[in-house]
Amino acid sequence: MKAIQVTQFGGPEVLKLAEVPDPAAAAGQVVVRVEAAGVNPVDTYIRSGAYARKPPLPFTPGMDGAGVIESIGPGVTGRAAGERVYIAGCLSGTYAQKALCLEQQVHPLPQRVSYAQGAGVFVPYGTAWRALFFCARATPGETVLVHGASGGVGVAAVQLARAAGLTVFGTGGTEAGRELVRTQGAHHVLDHRAPGYLDELMKLTGGRGVDIVLEMLANVNLAKDLEVLAPRGRVVVIGSRGAIPIDPRAAMTRDASIVGMALLNATPAELAIVHAALVAGLESGTLRPIVRQELPLGSAARAHGLVMESGAQGKIVLIP
Ligand code: NAP
Repeated sequence: MKAIQVTQFGGPEVLKLAEVPDPAAAAGQVVVRVEAAGVNPVDTYIRSGAYARKPPLPFTPGMDGAGVIESIGPGVTGRAAGERVYIAGCLSGTYAQKALCLEQQVHPLPQRVSYAQGAGVFVPYGTAWRALFFCARATPGETVLVHGASGGVGVAAVQLARAAGLTVFGTGGTEAGRELVRTQGAHHVLDHRAPGYLDELMKLTGGRGVDIVLEMLANVNLAKDLEVLAPRGRVVVIGSRGAIPIDPRAAMTRDASIVGMALLNATPAELAIVHAALVAGLESGTLRPIVRQELPLGSAARAHGLVMESGAQGKIVLIP
């Protein structure tokens, strides 16, 4: 089969299309024919060798994908060959024509959701769900700022928060991105590149601030986030690409919390809850992954360039 292989850590150019042996399902495993693979920023950190967890070389990147179960190993009872699934983590990497997964890493993909959309479920929606409900303990009636709402996690967070009865403020850096945030359910949309946009947020909340901030770029925004929090507000740090000085007093005076969140820390019990919620949302149409661009598998290097550029509008997926 064809797969992207990384034989040394480095820039996008280390993503090479190669011919590799087909995977075979051992006990408790399934082989999925991948119809689409999701590209996430974390894939670029892993490829560059900068990520805390480094896979042994060579490896095939990708933890998101969707397709059809081709074969199952001994002892697999919950899934069957021929089933449409989305992939949530993978033993072999999803940037490939076939992916080897544990039975627990594949989940039903409802007919109404395309494979390309299915490739944008696990990391974006799993992250947004865990941040909003486990970490921030969001409740209906609260207000949330999705700081960076135009990308994969942001769109997911807007849809989830809106459906849960929160008032949603979302930011985007381009007009097209902000239009997407608006159509996906944000009540108010702001431009995180415009001077004074957080003053506008304070005005819109009557000077109170927001109960929750889901932060996609904490190294730029964390200090400002603390200033726009309501009493007992919570900031969930989802993305950060560096250090930032903050004034702890801004947290202290509000009884505020800053909570870090990494999806890969989720326990199996938490993941079972998350997937039950995501499958229900996909079935009902509440959750509608947005695909910005489909690229052929051989364009993985281009996809890694695009996912790190500004101007997000949902997901980039690779088609094997
Ligand atoms: P993405 O699709 O590339 O989206 C990035 C988002 O950040 C876009 O909405 C972008 O908006 C926004 N952004 C850019 N500059 C900003 C600024 N100054 N202030 C606020 N937002 C800004 O990436 P993603 O998949 O949504 O992931 C977002 C971040 O979370 C990444 O850093 C990723 O590594 C991280 N992440 C963490 C976890 C975890 O487990 N902790 C899981 C998934 C992702 P414009 O392009 O419109 O400017």
